[in-house]
Amino acid sequence: MPSDIVERIDHWFALHGATSYEGNRRESVSALNHALQCAQLAEDARADATLVAAALLHDVGHFVAIAEVGEMADVDDVHELRGVAVLVHDFPPAVIEPIRLHVAAKRYLTAVEPKYFRGLSPASVHSLAQQGGPMDAVEIARFEALPFAEDAVRLRRWDDLAKLPGIETPSLAYYLALVDEVRVAARAMAGR
Ligand code: FE
Repeated sequence: MPSDIVERIDHWFALHGATSYEGNRRESVSALNHALQCAQLAEDARADATLVAAALLHDVGHFVAIAEVGEMADVDDVHELRGVAVLVHDFPPAVIEPIRLHVAAKRYLTAVEPKYFRGLSPASVHSLAQQGGPMDAVEIARFEALPFAEDAVRLRRWDDLAKLPGIETPSLAYYLALVDEVRVAARAMAGR
């Protein structure tokens, strides 16, 4: 496993990017294509580079779960937290927090926006129940107060849209170059 985080990300996509998840988690596109579509939607929306990076990387925790415990048939793999654990040392909060909150954002949106639920893929509806279902009023207020809640909601909407078969996207190399720039900028800010 490469020690450099950007090389490691490349490696994870090479190993696991072709999967579209099994059973109830099956989506209509591969994990790689989903990540690229999500990053492209963020870029098209003129999101900051940090949020484009978050869009590309929001599901790497699924790869970590497979590496650490193998395919999990039908349980919540808490991929948002596994992703954060492997990225937090190299990326700023503007990348990390939307990733950490992208599942919470689904629970939030299903609670505050009735029509949001109807747009979810069957796999997302299935995992919603395992992830705690729609938020209650206390959880909603707590979520809205978080510094990166709005970015997490934007990421969540791109996540839900990034499941269309046959969409052309820029390459993984293109987005890894952007991720590298975000990493280098964060390092410079931290004086490392
Ligand atoms: Fe996703």
